[in-house]
Amino acid sequence: MDTEASRTWLVTGGAGFIGSCWGRLALEAGESVVVLDKLTYASDRSSLPSDSRVQFFQGDICDEDLVAELLERFQPSGILHFAAESHVDRSIEGPGPFVQSNVVGTCTLLDCSLRYWEELSQNQKDAFRFLHVSTDEVYGSLGPTGKFDEHCKFEPNSPYSASKAAADHFVRAYHQTFGLPVLSTHCCNNFGPFQNPEKLIPRMIMQAMRGEHLPVFGDGQNVRDWLYVEDHCRALNAVVKSGVVGETYCVGAEEEQNNLDLVHMVCELLDELAADLPRRPCAELIEFVPDRLGHDRRYAIDPGKITSQLGWRPQADFRTALRKTVQWYLDNQDWVKRMETRAAELKG
Ligand code: NAD
Repeated sequence: MDTEASRTWLVTGGAGFIGSCWGRLALEAGESVVVLDKLTYASDRSSLPSDSRVQFFQGDICDEDLVAELLERFQPSGILHFAAESHVDRSIEGPGPFVQSNVVGTCTLLDCSLRYWEELSQNQKDAFRFLHVSTDEVYGSLGPTGKFDEHCKFEPNSPYSASKAAADHFVRAYHQTFGLPVLSTHCCNNFGPFQNPEKLIPRMIMQAMRGEHLPVFGDGQNVRDWLYVEDHCRALNAVVKSGVVGETYCVGAEEEQNNLDLVHMVCELLDELAADLPRRPCAELIEFVPDRLGHDRRYAIDPGKITSQLGWRPQADFRTALRKTVQWYLDNQDWVKRMETRAAELKG
């Protein structure tokens, strides 16, 4: 295993939205990453730079032999576990892949990690960390007031959040039963570059650029707490490097927006930034569509624990980061089109 100055991390799902951001920041900090990613429709190899410190393996976290081989070969200081099926609407259409990747995959990873960890020297064992990147959606839905914190009970409402909650339980059990040094985070909605265009913000940008309707579920009043992806990755760094083993940390920006207001903000930015927008004002494209089944009304996070114990707080200003994000999608439409084509091809 390597020294603190030049750590190597196994990053599952490192070609996805958040995992690739974490990888880019790790490289900037002089660390090395071994990425294991299935390259599903949601990912793209080009999200991570070509760099001698990135070892990329296309494969499934459910593949026990492959996971064991990578751990043995690269002797990582820890595992950042991002790999998951992540889109709620897809989990409603068919939960099977969510159970397979999010639950079975996490269990496979835990099992291989345990066998690897048990063979390490005492110093290496003490330094090793397994971080499960989970979501605030495991806590269910809030009314108009209150916030989720680490003491809230799990009440997942979608097949996606149920699969993440199941994975969280297995992560906890591997600590309680076997002593594996795990940590978990529950983060709110992320936004930023390289997010798959099926997710709200990039979808609105791309559809507006094509002059298509901008579908808003129900009455548009569902509230989410929005965090810039780099701030989430900084929180993960704080947790994996300074968090207390066995603990969970809630990560949020205290930036609540309802969907309709958020889409209006994106439209205003597009009106300003997109020279070839087919229709102005872009907000005229907004169209209300039947609500998502079981749509959680409101999520909000109390980040008090990670702020007071680990000194983390978001650095990005929400509106500035949203502007930067809209501009990134305008500048990277080829990337988005490639993702859309790939998703369509995989669908058959
Ligand atoms: P994403 O869909 O963009 O990326 C997921 C990555 O996992 C993809 O690269 C995909 O190819 C890979 N993957 C999926 N199944 C795999 C498997 N069986 N084996 C190997 N690789 C596999 O998702 P994201 O938004 O980057 O989310 C990353 C993690 O963060 C997820 O675990 C998600 O639950 C969690 N999370 C996301 C958000 C958010 O707002 N996006 C918020 C909180 C937590």
